[in-house]
Amino acid sequence: MANDILSLIEREYADIREKNLNKARANLDAAMRDDEFASAQRELKEISFLLAKAESYDGDENEVKRLKTRKNALSEQRSKALLRLGMNEVDLSPSFDCAACRDTGFVSGKPCECFKKKWVAHAFDGSGLDERPLLTFANDDLKKTERGEKIYAAMKKYAENFPRVNTRNFTFIGPVGCGKTYLASMIAGEIKKKGLITMLATATELNQLFLKNHTARYGEKTDVMGALIACDFLVIDDLGAEVNYNNVTVEYFFALISERLAKRRGTVITTNLTLDEIADRYGERFFSRISKNKNSAVIHFDDMNYRNN
Ligand SMILES: [Zn+2]
Repeated sequence: MANDILSLIEREYADIREKNLNKARANLDAAMRDDEFASAQRELKEISFLLAKAESYDGDENEVKRLKTRKNALSEQRSKALLRLGMNEVDLSPSFDCAACRDTGFVSGKPCECFKKKWVAHAFDGSGLDERPLLTFANDDLKKTERGEKIYAAMKKYAENFPRVNTRNFTFIGPVGCGKTYLASMIAGEIKKKGLITMLATATELNQLFLKNHTARYGEKTDVMGALIACDFLVIDDLGAEVNYNNVTVEYFFALISERLAKRRGTVITTNLTLDEIADRYGERFFSRISKNKNSAVIHFDDMNYRNN
């Protein structure tokens, strides 16, 4: 399955390159139907060849000079014709959807950001998770207490600064309806606007993905875990509402949080559980990652700081 995704993405890049190549070719064809452009273009080809030859073999200075003058004149004629046709020099060479990797998916051997995006999107194919609409701080219409305002302002700043931030894992603790998910979605929406890979999923949805992957036969396993780790920002909503599957739920959530912290990704967990209940349910190691790690922070919403209008 992971290999299927790779070949799918390779094909997408090949299609993009072909699309851009065809566009450039079509532009050239159109330009060649213009007599002035076409004659300049043809002679330019010849002159360029003669010039290269003269510069490398003959060495006749006057001849080189003559060819260069002619070449400049032809280039000018060509540019003028192009301009008259409503085109520019760049329209004749293939453009790139992604300038960073020139639509190859790789920059100096490392996966480009656009590759990561394609890969994550495909890993969630059919789940709808990557298309989920997110809020932004412009949507904020919650009435808050003083402390609530402070938390929202701090998190707004966090989203603005992301990924240049120290805290990588937030756990929002508090009862239903106190604005945890609302705030988490706004942070995610703000970060997504920067073009970073951002996802919001409920713990129940993730748990189902984990189970499906865990029980899939070898060769049919998806790389959903890799994709979840690769997301720049992930909201795990309502941790604790999911069913506990033996050997799956606790293990996968621990691996996910652990790997994301190690790779310095941004995560927000929202939960109605208390810290003690989290320790009980997910174990000491998980508890320690989210509450004692230097890059983790816990925010308590449990004194009902937020009320709807
Ligand atoms: Zn790229």
